[in-house]
Amino acid sequence: MKKDGMLDVLRGDRSLFNIFTREEEYRDGLRDSYGRFPYYASEERSIREPVVSRYLNEKGMQVQYPDGHNFAVCLSHDVDVLCPHNYFRKELDSIRSFTVGDFRGTIDKLSKPRVVRPFLDSREIMALEEKYGARSSFYFIAVDGGPDRSYDINEIKDDLKFIDGSGWEVGLHGSQAAHADLERMIKEKGLLEGALGKEVVGYRNHFLRFKVPLTWRLLQQAGFKYDTTLGYADCAGFRGGMCHPFFPYDLEAGTTIDIMEIPLVIMDASLFQNYMRLDIRGAWDLIKGLIDVVEAQRGTMGILWHNTNMLGDTLRLYEKTLQYCSDRKAWMPTGKQLQQEMSIEV
Ligand SMILES: [Zn+2]
Repeated sequence: MKKDGMLDVLRGDRSLFNIFTREEEYRDGLRDSYGRFPYYASEERSIREPVVSRYLNEKGMQVQYPDGHNFAVCLSHDVDVLCPHNYFRKELDSIRSFTVGDFRGTIDKLSKPRVVRPFLDSREIMALEEKYGARSSFYFIAVDGGPDRSYDINEIKDDLKFIDGSGWEVGLHGSQAAHADLERMIKEKGLLEGALGKEVVGYRNHFLRFKVPLTWRLLQQAGFKYDTTLGYADCAGFRGGMCHPFFPYDLEAGTTIDIMEIPLVIMDASLFQNYMRLDIRGAWDLIKGLIDVVEAQRGTMGILWHNTNMLGDTLRLYEKTLQYCSDRKAWMPTGKQLQQEMSIEV
């Protein structure tokens, strides 16, 4: 993938060039309480139209996915917290013993070490995805203190190794502060690599905090290969008009940044109470519509489904999404696999 290819084509259209480079995000203006540039502050109103990708396709962009696939869906899970059900398992088991009068069992169970596992165990999520031929990326928080710490990655080393060893991906879920702090980003990468025993190449920032172009610069300097943070928290769709991976352009420095961005098109949390307030049926219609658009453009979309949303209606919605992507013959690789195996020529 030639890093400047898209840019050379887009220089012919000022307005698309500005959308692609996120020119409006360089200007001062409204930011939310996380310092994020929200969709409601954007001048662009075509969030469900990948206007830049469409133009690049019209100009003859060649996109190749392995095994004859037409488009790609990169599934991912930000592990903000671990499963509370399993977290309190020993307490629950001891209460059960207590209620049947088994006092020795009560004490034994309480004195067991705590078993900490991701919400809907990562192994269950992987088994579900396997059924549909999908592999996903799990992004873990790796901090030794501060507001974002809710678990210790060193206590889940076995899970990390199992995920990686099975062909799924372990990536870094950078802490909130890391998006603008190179030292932290490098430290967190090192902590996760220490627990995994292997290099980590994929990144998404916690709370989707991101600053254009600073976060991209830092990610390149920290040695990541790809990022998949750039979607709007407050609305699903195509930020920057893109439904293909791309190398971002730094308008201040006048250079392309050497980090692949995989567009995050759907975050589960955007769909419901906090942001778009869709019901399950509305959420499905939107998800399906976006997948159809990406397929038509031979594109790539990122979908973020938190491990904490893997139950009840939202779990069924995730499975429905997997089923639909599988029916449409989408390629569903990890971010790392996508970065290594797809090619785009412009
Ligand atoms: Zn998060």
